[in-house]
Amino acid sequence: MVKTSNLGYPRIGEHREWKKALENFWNGQLAPETFLQQMKQIRLELLQKQQQSGVDLIPIGDFSFYDHVLDTALMFGLVPQRFQTKRFPDDLSLYFAIARGEQDLVASEMTKWYNTNYHYIVPEWHGQVPNLLNNRPLQLYLEAKTELGIEGKPVIIGPFSFAKLSKGYAKEQFAEVLHSLVAPYAQLLRELREAGVRWVQIDEPSLVTSITKAEMDLVSSVYQQLRNEVPDLSLFLQTYFAAVSFYEDVVALPVDGIGLDFVAGYAGNLEHLRTCSFPRDKVLGLGLIDGRNIWKTDYQQAAELFGEVKQWVPLENIWLQPSCSLLHVPVSLKQETELAPTLKNALAFAEEKLQELADLKEIFLQPESDRSLQKREANKQALQALAQSPERAVSPHQPARVTKRAAAFAQRQPLHAAKWQLPILPTTTIGSFPQTADLRQTRRLWRQGQITEQEYETAIREKIAKWIKLQERLGLDVLVHGEFERTDMVEFFGEKLQGFAFTRNGWVQSYGSRCVKPPIIFGNVRFVEPMTVKETVYAQSLTEKPVKGMLTGPVTILNWSFVRNDLPRQEIAYQIADALIEEVRCLEQAGIEMIQVDEPALREGLPLKREEWHSYLQWAVTAFRIATSDVANSTQIHTHMCYSEFGDILSAIRELDADVVSIETSRSHGELIADFEQEQFDKGIGLGVYDIHSPRIPSEAEMEKILERALSVLPAQLFWVNPDCGLKTRKEEEAIAALEKMVRAAKKVRAKI
Ligand code: GLN
Ligand code: ZN
Repeated sequence: MVKTSNLGYPRIGEHREWKKALENFWNGQLAPETFLQQMKQIRLELLQKQQQSGVDLIPIGDFSFYDHVLDTALMFGLVPQRFQTKRFPDDLSLYFAIARGEQDLVASEMTKWYNTNYHYIVPEWHGQVPNLLNNRPLQLYLEAKTELGIEGKPVIIGPFSFAKLSKGYAKEQFAEVLHSLVAPYAQLLRELREAGVRWVQIDEPSLVTSITKAEMDLVSSVYQQLRNEVPDLSLFLQTYFAAVSFYEDVVALPVDGIGLDFVAGYAGNLEHLRTCSFPRDKVLGLGLIDGRNIWKTDYQQAAELFGEVKQWVPLENIWLQPSCSLLHVPVSLKQETELAPTLKNALAFAEEKLQELADLKEIFLQPESDRSLQKREANKQALQALAQSPERAVSPHQPARVTKRAAAFAQRQPLHAAKWQLPILPTTTIGSFPQTADLRQTRRLWRQGQITEQEYETAIREKIAKWIKLQERLGLDVLVHGEFERTDMVEFFGEKLQGFAFTRNGWVQSYGSRCVKPPIIFGNVRFVEPMTVKETVYAQSLTEKPVKGMLTGPVTILNWSFVRNDLPRQEIAYQIADALIEEVRCLEQAGIEMIQVDEPALREGLPLKREEWHSYLQWAVTAFRIATSDVANSTQIHTHMCYSEFGDILSAIRELDADVVSIETSRSHGELIADFEQEQFDKGIGLGVYDIHSPRIPSEAEMEKILERALSVLPAQLFWVNPDCGLKTRKEEEAIAALEKMVRAAKKVRAKI
C-alpha cells in the first residue's frame, strides 16, 4: 500500500544542540571523543524522532558534522590540493580545516545549494581520481539498525549532481569526471546491498536545472552502468526544487523509484505526468509537502493531487514525501509560545510536517473514517482562519505605483553634481559600522526591559555621533549613520512593517554552524510609521557632509523571509516596495536626498531554470523601481549588491535605474569592470575596493590598482570608492585602519587624473 518516506531532516536539533556541540568543540571546550559522542547522541535522537512519527522510510546519512557535500567529497578521497601536503592529526581535523580554513590554508569555497539559503563546500578535483575510502552511509545504516532497530534508507548525492557541484576540472572534462565516479559509486552501492539495504535514495537535484540533452544522455549511461553493477538493489532517484528538465528520459532511467517535487515543481511535473504518464513498474515519490516553506499543507489540494496521480500509478507504488529534505525548515513549533494562535495554527515545521505525512496517508487510505474527516476539517479550519485573518484583508485602496523616475539619468546627474559638488571618485561606505560587544549588550538589556527606550536611544545616538566625527576625520565624502540600531537588515524592517511575524526558535542552518531565523511574511505588508528617519536626520544634523539614508530593498526582504504562499511572490515584493517608497519619501521630506536601497539578495532569487530568469528579473526590477522611482529628480538613489557574478544579470541591474550601484570588486580583482564596460554602463558605479569579510587590512597599492584598472575602461566621473559591503562584522580598529587607506588611495588616484 501507499508508503510515507522522508528525504532528510534538520541537523541542528530542537535547541540547536548540534550548533553548540560544534562550537564548543572548535573552541577547545570539548575533547574529540566527547564531541563524537555528543554528535552520535544527536544523530540518534533525530532518527528516533522520525521513527516515532511513524514515517515508513527514514533517511540515513543526511546528518553531517558540517555539510553533506563535503562528507561525500571526503568519502571519495577528494581532498583539495593545498590540504594534501600538510599532516593533520586525524580525519576530523582535516575535515574542519577544509570547511573553515586554517591560519595558512584558505578554506574551500562555499556556495549556495541550488536556490536555497543553505551553503555547501565546493569539492575540488584538480586531476584526482575518486575512490571509496570509507562507506559512510553503510556505517550509519548499521548504526541506526543496531542502536534503534531502524531499517533505514541511506541517502547519497548522485554522481551527476556531485560532479556538477564540484570544481577543479575544465568543462570539456565533465564526461570524464562523471565516468570516474561510476566505480566508487558502484562499490558503495554493492557494499550497501551486501549489508542488506533495501532502498537507497540517490539525490539528483541537478536534473531540475537547465541541462543539455547530451548531459541527460550521460546521466542515462552512468545509471545504466550502476544498474549493471547492482542489479538487485532498489535505487530511488530523487529530484527536488523544480520540475525535472527531461521528464521522459528521467522516468526511463534504470532505477526502481523516482521522486518528483510537486510543490516547487508542481505545474511542470503534473503536466509531464498528464502528457507522458509514469512507468507502472516504478515507485513514484510524490513530494507534496513543502520542504522549503513553513505553512501547513492544504489537505484538500493534496487529496486532489493524489486522486489524479493514482490514475497513473498503482497505490502500492506511491510514496508520500516532502518535496525536498526538511533541512530547509525549522525543527519544531513546540517552543513558539508567542505567535498569534491563528498564525501558529497554520504553520508546520519539520516535526509537524512528518505528522502531516502520517495524516495524509491515513486520509488517502481511509477517506471516510472519522479520524480522516476530523483531520481534514481541522486542516481546513486552520487554513481558512489564516486566509480570513484581518492581516490578509485586501485594502480597497491600491496604492498608485510609480515605476519610472520623472527624468532620465542624464538629466538627474547634473542636478546631483550641482547640489553636492563632490570631488571626483567620491568616497563613502556601504552602511553599517562595527557592532561592538557593548552595543550588543545595551540592546540585550533594552530588549529585556532592563534599560529604558530613552537610554537605549541615547546609546545609539552616542555611537552615531562618534562615527560621524570619525568619518569626518577620515575624510570620507558621503557619510552614513552606521546602522547601530539594527541587528539584521531584514529583521529590522520586518519588525517595523505590518505583515511580519517572528519566531522564537525558527532556526535554519545556513552554513556550518551558522543558523538564520527568517521572519515570516504572513499578512499584507504595510508601512506603519517612519523607520529610519530619526537616526538619519540626527546623523545629518551633526555634519555639513551629506548623510546617505539606508534601506533594505524589497527583493532582499522577500528572499530572506518565509513568505505566504497564497499570493504570487511578485505581489508580495510589490507590497514591500509600496511600503518602502513611503519611507523613501519621509527621508526626502526630512532633507535626506541621497538614499541607498540595498539588494544583496537580488541575484540569489534567480530561478534554477534559465528560461525563467527573465520573468523573475522583470518583477524584481519593477519592485525595486516601485520602491525608488517616486522621488525628486534631485534625489540620488544608490543601491548595493555584494556578489561577483554580475555578468549575466548586468542588464537587469542597469534597468534598476539607480543613480549609483555599488558592487564587489575586490575578490574578483576588478575583473567584472570589463562586464560593465561591455554593457556600456553609464551610471554611477561604487567600486568595492576591499574585502570586508576578512580582518586583513588592505594595502593602499592594491586599492589603487583596482581603481586604475576601472579608470582604464570607463570614465572617472562614473566611479565612487567604497568597501565591498557593510562593516558591521569588523572590529572598530580594523574598519578605521582600512578606511584610512581607502581614502588615501582615492586621493592619490584623484591627483593623477
Ligand atoms: N547596508 C548594509 C550594511 O552595510 C548592506 C549589507 C549587505 O549588503 N549584506 O550592513
Ligand atoms: Zn553587501
